[in-house]
Amino acid sequence: MSFKIGFIGLGNMGAPMAHNLANAGHSVTGFDTAGTTAQGVAAASTVQDACAEADFVITMLPNGAILRSVADEVLPAMKKGATLIDCSTVDVESARHVGAQAADAGIGFVDAPVSGGIGGASGGTLTFMAGGSDDAFAAANPLFDIMGQKAVHCGDAGAGQAAKICNNMILGATMIATCEAFALADKLGLDRQKMFDVVSTSSGYSWSMNAYCPAPGVGPQSPADNDYTPGFAAELMLKDLGLSQQAAEAVDADTPMGALARALYAQFVEEEDGKGRDFSAMLPRFAARSRSA
Ligand code: NAD
Repeated sequence: MSFKIGFIGLGNMGAPMAHNLANAGHSVTGFDTAGTTAQGVAAASTVQDACAEADFVITMLPNGAILRSVADEVLPAMKKGATLIDCSTVDVESARHVGAQAADAGIGFVDAPVSGGIGGASGGTLTFMAGGSDDAFAAANPLFDIMGQKAVHCGDAGAGQAAKICNNMILGATMIATCEAFALADKLGLDRQKMFDVVSTSSGYSWSMNAYCPAPGVGPQSPADNDYTPGFAAELMLKDLGLSQQAAEAVDADTPMGALARALYAQFVEEEDGKGRDFSAMLPRFAARSRSA
């Protein structure tokens, strides 16, 4: 079955996702304020042109404020019964707001942030964390199958964003813990390979250590082996840690490790040399420091 799909936001992630949908035989029309396009995707001159008559509209945008303003334009242009799928990483409140607005307009909504980065977007191997009604999720599922390898239905609108920011809060804190432990091991004279051999098979193991080891030449191939070229950029981790703290404040949750991880990534990105580097470049940062500075 071939669908008409409007795709809004053809950046690093959106362009390859839109391309994969077109490649699978769907009729995809894209719009991006920067004028970017994607292979096999027809270019619309307005956001409304990309959405009119579409069975699905997919958004892949920088933040919640932009999502809200795009939704204000998109929802009135969509036909009733169509589905809006937002794949951006945004705050939970914006996802719920747009979900409610879509319901009022008779349009299905799924918030479906992704994990897997640019490689996953190009290779069609993303993981989607989805929130929305059973019907909306079922409708969107064939498109998730093309753009990704797994989609988990996490609950109502906003649940996908909640899952994403909780996951990334764990990831940020774990990466910092892994990096500071390597830096401590260095100063204790412990070989990094030995450290990996022990921790990756002991109770300190984690995705950060086992699958994305921050030490160059140790463990599987990772951005550390490519001079910390992202991968997953430190500033994107900072964004996600900011969203988790925003959510924690909204629901009065105590998240001290997440708060500290956010503060450390903010310092790394805003005051040190972290911007444009992979988030695992926390290892050379810690290795170059002493206890007091
Ligand atoms: P990007 O900045 O490359 O792309 C965003 C695109 O949205 C840009 O091309 C921009 O011109 C466009 N845009 C902005 N305002 C618009 C508007 N009003 N109408 C239409 N287009 C508009 O960002 P990206 O790396 O593609 O990330 C997109 C989203 O995916 C973000 O929410 C990000 O947090 C999330 N994400 C990114 C990664 C990653 O590795 N890059 C991984 C997971 C999730």
